Amino acid sequence: MGPASRPRTNWAGNVAFTTAALHRPATVSQLQAIVSRAGRIRALGSGHSFNDIADSPGTQVSLADLPPEISVDSAARVVRVAAGLRYGDLARPLDQAGFAVRNLASLPHISVAGACATATHGSGAANQNLAAAVAGLELVTADGDLAEIRRGDARFDGTVVHLGAVGVVVSLTLEVVPTFEVGQRVYENLPLEVLDDHFTDLMTSGYSVSLFTDWQAPHLTQIWVKQAVQAIADATPLAQAPWFTARPATSARHPLPGLSPDVCTQQLGVPGRWYDRLPHFRLDFTPSTGAELQSEYLLPAVHAVPALHALDAIRDQVAPVLQVCEIRVIAADQLWLSPCYARDTVALHFTWIPDSASVLPVVTRVEQQLAPFGARPHWGKIFTTPPQALRESYERLAEFIRLMHDYDPAGKFRNAYTDRYLGS
Ligand SMILES: Cc1cc2nc3c(=O)[nH]c(=O)nc-3n(C[C@H](O)[C@H](O)[C@H](O)COP(=O)(O)OP(=O)(O)OC[C@H]3O[C@@H](n4cnc5c(N)ncnc54)[C@H](O)[C@@H]3O)c2cc1C
Repeated sequence: MGPASRPRTNWAGNVAFTTAALHRPATVSQLQAIVSRAGRIRALGSGHSFNDIADSPGTQVSLADLPPEISVDSAARVVRVAAGLRYGDLARPLDQAGFAVRNLASLPHISVAGACATATHGSGAANQNLAAAVAGLELVTADGDLAEIRRGDARFDGTVVHLGAVGVVVSLTLEVVPTFEVGQRVYENLPLEVLDDHFTDLMTSGYSVSLFTDWQAPHLTQIWVKQAVQAIADATPLAQAPWFTARPATSARHPLPGLSPDVCTQQLGVPGRWYDRLPHFRLDFTPSTGAELQSEYLLPAVHAVPALHALDAIRDQVAPVLQVCEIRVIAADQLWLSPCYARDTVALHFTWIPDSASVLPVVTRVEQQLAPFGARPHWGKIFTTPPQALRESYERLAEFIRLMHDYDPAGKFRNAYTDRYLGS
C-alpha cells in the first residue's frame, strides 16, 4: 500500500505538515508492514491539534480506513474500540449497548487515539480526563510487532498519554458506565468577583460545568451547567444560591457571541443522551468557530482564583486577540504525562483569533502570569513554554523518556515536537 494524498494542514490550518506521505492502511497487517519498513513515522488522528505534535519528518499514517471495531463487554464494563474512530462514531453504538463513556471533550470530532494521546478532557470535578478511562492499549511497535498493554502492567501509567512517541495505537479498551441522560442550561452575566468566594460552589454545581469570559467586561459571559438527569432531583438549583445572580438564557446560545447556536448541543434543560449534551458542539457541524487558534493551561485547582486574578491583570493584552476564554475543572489521575497527574486541576482555555503573529506574544504573557501556579500547557495546543520549564513541571517525565527509548530505541516515532520537549 503506497502513500496516498495527504491532508496538507491540521484542522485549524495553522500547521502545514512537512511530510508529503500519508499512508492509509486497510488492515492491521498492512499497518505493521508500513511501520516496520518506515524510517520515521507518526500516527495522525483527526488532526485537531493546534501545533506540530502530529507532524513527521518521514511519513504519517492514518488509521481511519481500518475496520471500525466497537466491541462491548457488558460484564467487564469495557469497550474495545478501533483507535482511528472518533468519539462521535463510538457514541451511538455504545449507547445502544446500554453504556456511555463517563465524559467527552467539547467536540466529538476527535479520534479516540489522538484524544487519549494528549490527555484531552472535558469538565467536572469528579471527572478525570478521557485517557483515564483507558484500561488497555494495543499498539504496533517500532519493529512492526503488536503489543498489548493493560492496566496493572508496569509500563501502563507511562504509556497511555504518549504523544504518539511509543508506537501506533491500533485499539483502545475503555471503561464504560451505564448510559445516562443529561440536561444542560446556560446562564449569563455573573460578576467575576463572585468566583473569589464561590469558585468551587460553581464548579461543583453540575456533572460538568464550563465558565466563559471574554476578559472585556468583568463578568462571566456564560456558564454552561450539564447535569446528569438522575442527579437533577438531588442537586441544589444554582438559582437558589443568593450569590448566583446570573440569569438563565431564554434561548439556545453559542459560547461565542453572535455565532449560531445551531452548531451547539441542545440546551434549555431538555434531557438528551450523554453524547448529545456533554460536548458543546454537534458532530455534524464545524465545532467552535473553525477560524481560531487555541491555547490551554492546566494548574492545580486550588490556585484557580489567584490564577484568574493574574489573568485579570493582563486583560488589556488578552482581550484584543481573544475570541473566548473557558474555565473547566478535571479530577486528578495517575498517568505520567497527563497535565492532571496527581492534582485536581483547573483548565484555562483560550480561543484566539487566527493570527499567530498577534497571538503568540500574548500566549507568552499568559504563560508568565500563570507560571507561579505550576501551569502545564495542553500538549495539543499552542504554547511557548520553554522546553526546560515544561520538563520540570512533570515529575515523571524523565521516566517517560526512558520508556520512550525502551519502546523505540531508534527514534522511529519521534519528530521535531518530541525532540523539543522530550529530547532527541
Ligand atoms: C475545536 C477544538 C476543540 C477542542 N476541544 C478540546 C477539549 O474540549 N478538551 C481538550 O482537552 N482538548 C480539546 N481540543 C484539543 C484536541 O482534543 C487534541 O488536540 C486532540 O489530541 C485531538 O485529537 P486528534 O485525533 O485530532 O489527534 P491529532 O491532532 O491528529 O494527534 C494528536 C497526537 O496523537 C497522536 N496519535 C493520533 N492517533 C494515534 C494513534 N493511533 N497511535 C499513536 N498516536 C496517535 C499523534 O501522533 C499526535 O501525537 C480541541 C481541539 C479543537 C480543534
